[in-house]
Amino acid sequence: AADKEKNSSVAKIKVVVRKRPLNKKELAKNEEDIIETHSNSVTVHETKLKVDLTEYVEKHEFVFDAVLNEEVSNDEVYRETVEPIVPIIFERTKATCFAYGQTGSGKTYTMKPLPLKASRDILRLMHHTYRNQGFQLFVSFFEIYGGKLFDLLSDRKKLCMREDGKQQVCIVGLHEYKVSDVETIKDLIEKGNATRSTGTTGANEESSRSHAILQLAIKRSFDGKPPRPVGKLSFIDLAGSERGADTTDNDKQTRMEGAEINKSLLALKECIRALDNDKSHIPFRGSKLTEVLRDSFVGNSRTVMISCISPSSGSCEHTLNTLRYADRVK
Ligand code: ADP
Ligand code: MG
Repeated sequence: AADKEKNSSVAKIKVVVRKRPLNKKELAKNEEDIIETHSNSVTVHETKLKVDLTEYVEKHEFVFDAVLNEEVSNDEVYRETVEPIVPIIFERTKATCFAYGQTGSGKTYTMKPLPLKASRDILRLMHHTYRNQGFQLFVSFFEIYGGKLFDLLSDRKKLCMREDGKQQVCIVGLHEYKVSDVETIKDLIEKGNATRSTGTTGANEESSRSHAILQLAIKRSFDGKPPRPVGKLSFIDLAGSERGADTTDNDKQTRMEGAEINKSLLALKECIRALDNDKSHIPFRGSKLTEVLRDSFVGNSRTVMISCISPSSGSCEHTLNTLRYADRVK
């Protein structure tokens, strides 16, 4: 009962917006910051033209659990999003943190430090609160590209997924590293991120078309028996949200990838919404992404969505799309 109380004090779904600063390119183009933020609301100032071509500003206001402005550090992002859910993964809970947004909005910048900060806290709990209780920490890192799975800690080895009868998802052949110190975890994260971006067409181009999934799994072993799963924390750096619109591109490959991304982001939204409504039917089957995350959408799980936005006038339309998506999830 005490576990239950502790669990329920953490919201099932938390939606947070993070605004990045204007970058050099945007400043050079004289683009304006059109995003006004408050502690839990964000207003987009969209410039529009009347029929007589005079300009006017239309304001769009959205309310979220938290809105983090361009001055907020990665440490503060961690405290606001992931830190509260770390303790509950020792209590058989699965938690997932997503970064959503257009390419260049700050998803990777936001996501990269989070697993390291979380594993630091997990190891601390393992060494103090849960000392000598048989808990172990495992790391895996893979990506979904064009609907296929690749191991980022094993030279992008192709993987496949299997499901047992108990709603557990198994990714066959996925390397899971048992880790007991922060340095090793740091190396693994670096390695995975480097593997992710070695595409043929340049770093951001490739990674913007894939979902990267880093998982920290807590297991427990008694009397030297094989460790059994306890809880899991997943970090998902989603494909650029604008890529889902690449469905009319001239290149067939790009079109197919765009369709898959579109499908997965729509399915993800539906799965998160179903989680909040305690629905018995959860539409995992919609895409590879949601199938892989199936066990994180059932039972007592937690979701944090970080919606990343650019402040610039040039990104207005993408920003509105991102905020509308986040608004549907909350
Ligand atoms: P995405 O992964 O969404 O495509 P990135 O995380 O690669 O975007 O960010 C694009 C660029 O903006 C990077 O150079 C990154 O360092 C920078 N950036 C993103 N967010 C911030 C921020 N909050 N503060 C400072 N720089 C940022
Ligand atoms: Mg990225």
